[in-house]
Amino acid sequence: MQSKIVVALAGNPNSGKTTIFNNLTGARQHVGNYPGVTVEKKEGFCEYKGREMRIVDLPGTYSLTAYSAEEIVARNFIIEEKPDVVVDIIDSSNLERNLYLAVQLMETGAPLVLAFNMSDEARARGYEFDIEKFSQFFNAPVVKTVGHKGEGMDELMEEIIAVASRRSESLNRFSVNYGDELESEITKLESMLRRHFPLTDQYGARWLAVKLLEKDRDIMARIGSAEIDEQVERSAAYVEKMAGEPPETSIAGSRYGFISGACQEAVRSTIEIRHTISDRIDSVVTNRVLGIPIFLGLMYLVFSLTFTLGDPPMGWIEDFFKWSGGVVAGWWPEGSGSLLKSLLVDGIIGGVGGVIVFLPNILLLFFAIAILEDSGYMARAAFIMDRLMHKIGLHGKSFIPMLVGFGCSVPAIMATRTLENRRDRLVTMLVVPLMSCGARLPIYALIIPAFFPQVWHAPMLWIIYVIGILLAILSAKVLRSTIFRGESIPFVMELPPYRMPTFRGVLIHMWQRGWLYLKKAGTIILGISILLWAMTTFPGLPDEEAQRFEKEKQSVQASVADEKDKPASIASIEDARKEEELRTSIAGRIGHALEPVLKPMGFDWKIGTALIGAFAAKEVFVAQMGIVYSVGEADEGSETLREKLKDNYSPLVGFCIMLFCLISAPCMATIAITRRESNSWKWALFQLAGLTVLAWVITAIVYQAGGLLGIGI
Ligand code: GDP
Ligand code: MG
Repeated sequence: MQSKIVVALAGNPNSGKTTIFNNLTGARQHVGNYPGVTVEKKEGFCEYKGREMRIVDLPGTYSLTAYSAEEIVARNFIIEEKPDVVVDIIDSSNLERNLYLAVQLMETGAPLVLAFNMSDEARARGYEFDIEKFSQFFNAPVVKTVGHKGEGMDELMEEIIAVASRRSESLNRFSVNYGDELESEITKLESMLRRHFPLTDQYGARWLAVKLLEKDRDIMARIGSAEIDEQVERSAAYVEKMAGEPPETSIAGSRYGFISGACQEAVRSTIEIRHTISDRIDSVVTNRVLGIPIFLGLMYLVFSLTFTLGDPPMGWIEDFFKWSGGVVAGWWPEGSGSLLKSLLVDGIIGGVGGVIVFLPNILLLFFAIAILEDSGYMARAAFIMDRLMHKIGLHGKSFIPMLVGFGCSVPAIMATRTLENRRDRLVTMLVVPLMSCGARLPIYALIIPAFFPQVWHAPMLWIIYVIGILLAILSAKVLRSTIFRGESIPFVMELPPYRMPTFRGVLIHMWQRGWLYLKKAGTIILGISILLWAMTTFPGLPDEEAQRFEKEKQSVQASVADEKDKPASIASIEDARKEEELRTSIAGRIGHALEPVLKPMGFDWKIGTALIGAFAAKEVFVAQMGIVYSVGEADEGSETLREKLKDNYSPLVGFCIMLFCLISAPCMATIAITRRESNSWKWALFQLAGLTVLAWVITAIVYQAGGLLGIGI
């Protein structure tokens, strides 16, 4: 004989629990009390298709936090007695509020069935539910019921039996994503719990960690570890500092975000029902027609801010490095060929200084992104893109890692861990580098003002970013319908409530980015700059060549009659010598060897060496252009790098540089992290080769077409 199925009925007060309990059990019930508390315990029995069931009517609760005896009783029953099925009776005419309990039940990992009760009321109020979607979002069957009329009871029984017999299969615990800060604290607590609390596995480490961060006294007492309590204090303080609200508020916000996202996707309403301010903003911002234009418009705003506010401080930093280059050069006599002087002035000030110049742009960009993120808008952007990506058959949740990619591809690739489907994950990982990362910004900030008039600055930057997004989506689509064909599962995109970002949180986020940038400039970029300087300086001219230039100079000294012309003639010989020296340097030789590949894109060997350097880290492109152009100059610091570029290249070449840098593989770190996260060299090399080839093809096409059409030459 099969054992009895134990079914627990959970739900908000007045959702119709008792009504359904009575429907199922008829007269076979008895009432008692839960031990030690005055909370009523009702149990009953029933039989359906030969299966015996014991049904427990849990006390009505809005939540599973330990605010009341009812909540503790309900939650302990679910976690400790492990019923075979938990049925959440939901008042579906009041769906969002009722789903809060459903989310928490889902997080306990209990085998769940959702009864959308009061579905008569819901229909009367004009709601239509996409039952299929809800059941995917909550990873549980959903049944529509009308309790007092007994409608849907057979279907409910069927699903209860189905879930109960699926019980033995390992359940995929699904959880709300609480955002970077909370998630990292949760992970910390989880590993501590595993070490300190023997019952961790019974409760689930993640569930316990979340409860602790919600300051759940009941759980704290059960664990009873001072060490864990201390860590909870620290974590809570950190989250509060970063988010401007205590973790429990933030956690509740994320849960409502999940619900809100699910309802946006799966509830249609024939009557206007939105009332909160968040809802009203959302009805505009996530509007099917306006959503994407608003997203693109906000991006544009961010970029014009980056340039207009960034320009003056950038000028000051530029002037500072020009001045310090002059001061350092002044330590040596005029025309000195000292290697140390060249290293300091050309290699370090020209290279690293050239990168630091763009710190204001970086700070401003990340200031704006932090505001968009902390206010809750970024979640909307992901939500809008989710819809678009669904339409073209892609996984929507991929867009969150892609948004992270605006900062840096490395954490973005790590963020693909939230995608459970390996195919989705690989596709996202491979295309994430097309989202223009922060390290490319200095390249755009160098090129755009050099070649384009003021009014074009923000639009140009916007175009580059949009090209990146479009290419990412397109490549994902291509990969998804070729190498990675297959179904994808819908996910809930969370829509947390809007919040006023705290000034402090935004500043901290901005500064973290800025500091990373400076640190990178002071370490990896400094190192590579010195290496590249050496490659552009050595081996130097062979003796006879050097002597030839010396002789020429001397003969000018002796022969030119007009004293006024002498300095100019000598300078031009000096320039020719420098040019020859560069051409025969190691970097020059490598660059020249690459010319057949570079030419179709309109690049010369100097750009070529900078592009190779950029593979170590994108900012190196700027550094190397600074080095090449200051090593090649006889007089120090007379012009800014941008002026030199403007004299040497056309706007079309400038655009092509940006395009190539945007599309080609961002840096070694990205390839390395792809290797680690995909656990295969194959995909890492595929990414490297794929992006490089794509970059080459697109840039060459644009350059050739631009040339033919006479645009920007
Ligand atoms: P409980 O607090 O969750 O146990 O809720 P009850 O079972 O006591 O039900 C509360 C009220 O809702 C009662 O008056 C029920 O008759 C009514 N009710 C239960 N199910 C439905 C339903 O599906 N539709 C409507 N319109 N009313 C219902
Ligand atoms: Mg009741």
